[in-house]
Amino acid sequence: MVGMKKLCFCLIPILLLCSCSRAAQITEVNGFYFDTYVNITLYEDNVSVKTELPKLLSSLELIYSPTLPESELYRLNHALIRKPESEELRKTLEEAMYYEVLSGGALNASIGSVSALWDFHTDSPAVPDSASVNAALKQIKKGADYLSDRELSLDLGCIAKGAISFRVRDYLLDQGVSSAIIDLGGNVVVIGGKPDGRPFTVGIQDPLAKDKVLRTVQVKDCCVVTSGTYERCFEADGKLYHHILDPQTGYPAESGLSSVTILCADPVMADALSTACMVLGKEEGLALIETIDDCEALFIDGDMNMYPSSGFPPQ
Ligand code: ADP
Ligand code: MG
Repeated sequence: MVGMKKLCFCLIPILLLCSCSRAAQITEVNGFYFDTYVNITLYEDNVSVKTELPKLLSSLELIYSPTLPESELYRLNHALIRKPESEELRKTLEEAMYYEVLSGGALNASIGSVSALWDFHTDSPAVPDSASVNAALKQIKKGADYLSDRELSLDLGCIAKGAISFRVRDYLLDQGVSSAIIDLGGNVVVIGGKPDGRPFTVGIQDPLAKDKVLRTVQVKDCCVVTSGTYERCFEADGKLYHHILDPQTGYPAESGLSSVTILCADPVMADALSTACMVLGKEEGLALIETIDDCEALFIDGDMNMYPSSGFPPQ
């Protein structure tokens, strides 16, 4: 389309920065799942995980894929099933409902009708016409019951990677893994610390410069999840359109933020709140984070000013 420049697509920046001095034994599982690059590194030799983990990832894709007709989410969205079949999806839908309430509606997984109009995945994404956006906006429901309401078009993009990394972490912990990094396209969850006991170093990307790290955090047993305007976006007539949508308007959130990084122990919370805070903006977002125990955030605005929450670790 004329005047339109695609800036970036599904590739989310590599968040890890010199995360570990090479341990003697490493097990790596890589692949493209959930429309993103997945990289899971264990600091031990583990043949069983190497074989079983890809199977777990594929089974999770069969739950969460929005596009595979055989996936549970797809079948739910197309009313081919009346309610979730797996405990996994049921739990995630409940969590999405919980974070909708907690965020005062900034997060709303019934946004599917609107997000479908914004196709950030294609080579020539376009701004949808306002009549379509307004019509789709009417399909978003506030406080809906995702478990039973089959009129909804559910989009779990804001929370699925969190739920998946939660499941992967559980599996690895069950296998007795004590040092690992789970990286789902920038959704980073670490188990333990480095084999030598020191924390992992995770880099937070400069929202303006791909592959440039703005600052780092040292973490053990923690999630570092960033949502940013730079992840899936395009430019049209000098304006940046990104994939985090304001459920009130149906258009990309204009909160003045470039990215929000959440640090906490729960991958679902980190994923949900990073997206929600992008919509809420700095003041409301920071106020929300301050009400939650053991959850910290770093807000970066359009001029690259950084606003950490009160307990965010110093550089
Ligand atoms: P990413 O998946 O790129 O890491 P996020 O976790 O921030 O990014 O989730 C963004 C995705 O969530 C969008 O691609 C879209 O599918 C969905 N989404 C966008 N805005 C909202 C919103 N306000 N509430 C719920 N889901 C949203
Ligand atoms: Mg998210």
